[in-house]
Amino acid sequence: MSVFASADEAELREGALGRLRRLVELESPSSDEARLRAVAGWLAAELTAAGGEVDTVDVEGIGEHVIARFRGSEPSLEPLVVLGHIDTVHPVGTFDPVFRLDGGLARGPGVFDMKGGLACVLAALARFRDEGSAPRRPTVLVATCDEETGSETSRSLIEDAARGAHAVLVPEPPLPGGAAKTRRKGVGWYRLEVTGRAAHAGVDPENGVNALVELAHQVLAVTALADPALGTTISVGEAAGGTASNVVPASAWASVDVRFATGTEAERVDRAIRGLGPRLEGASLSVSGGQNRPPVERTEANVALYRAARGLAAEAGWELGEGSTGGGSDGSFTAGMGVPTLDGIGPAGSGPHSVDEHVLVEDLPRRVRLYGRLLETL
Ligand SMILES: [Zn+2]
Repeated sequence: MSVFASADEAELREGALGRLRRLVELESPSSDEARLRAVAGWLAAELTAAGGEVDTVDVEGIGEHVIARFRGSEPSLEPLVVLGHIDTVHPVGTFDPVFRLDGGLARGPGVFDMKGGLACVLAALARFRDEGSAPRRPTVLVATCDEETGSETSRSLIEDAARGAHAVLVPEPPLPGGAAKTRRKGVGWYRLEVTGRAAHAGVDPENGVNALVELAHQVLAVTALADPALGTTISVGEAAGGTASNVVPASAWASVDVRFATGTEAERVDRAIRGLGPRLEGASLSVSGGQNRPPVERTEANVALYRAARGLAAEAGWELGEGSTGGGSDGSFTAGMGVPTLDGIGPAGSGPHSVDEHVLVEDLPRRVRLYGRLLETL
């Protein structure tokens, strides 16, 4: 019997909203170790209270990841994984007050990306406990503290949890209007370093090799690898070089962001970037970096999972749409492993990574119900 299908709307909303306020007020920007530990501690206590077996993973100098395991009512089934992150991009003090209800909106740092999703998951797990019920499958919640900076210390943790899982649910922000993300572009990050030769710009410029001129060639060459029709976009995001205007620059560098919709395109661009050579005699070029997150492709398994969620939303009287995004998430890792992944099912809102960040309060109870029903039925 479902403990969510006929649950009281106001009760579900209050359960999510109270937890959201607490999560947001514990501001937790990436790399703020003390604050990330504080929010991880609060989350671990909530998950323990909801009946989870909780481990924290200490990352010296960064923060703390949280993993909670819930025994399912059918404990021999393959587990479900719920994936989230507790870090935000907002420096402490960006919002004043930190958390605010504004008409039908809840505002605050990370409220949309993705403390809203975490609060709804917590509310759903607490409801199982309160009603003496449990998710059908063993359920593992992984909440990491370094998603916004590339998940370097959490990727293996995420992949270990997802290995052999039945499916992965990612309550990251949805598309405008609340649609799930059934396709995500993959992300590649590269750094180009050019070495030239310094010389006096007036006395003996002919003895110099201008690293910035070389870099300019490389910026154009990299940019030309884009193929927007196939979904491949490339942006050189930063560049710098030289020491003074009267010195032929001996060094320069640029960082490059690559987005791709398919693994084939990722490989094509990767090969091309690594194959770049210097154009100026006497210059050298080195390329570092590579793929940061694989793309989420619209595979049959991912679509089947989306359809199951859409069906549960329809039972509750609303439509869960789907679409694609250029942004990556930790769901990209699990989808890249071939584990069915449903991403972007957090509460509707807008303004991720901006001071306008908000979620729609009326969407919170719908999401709590959706997560509860997914955990009951998948
Ligand atoms: Zn996020």
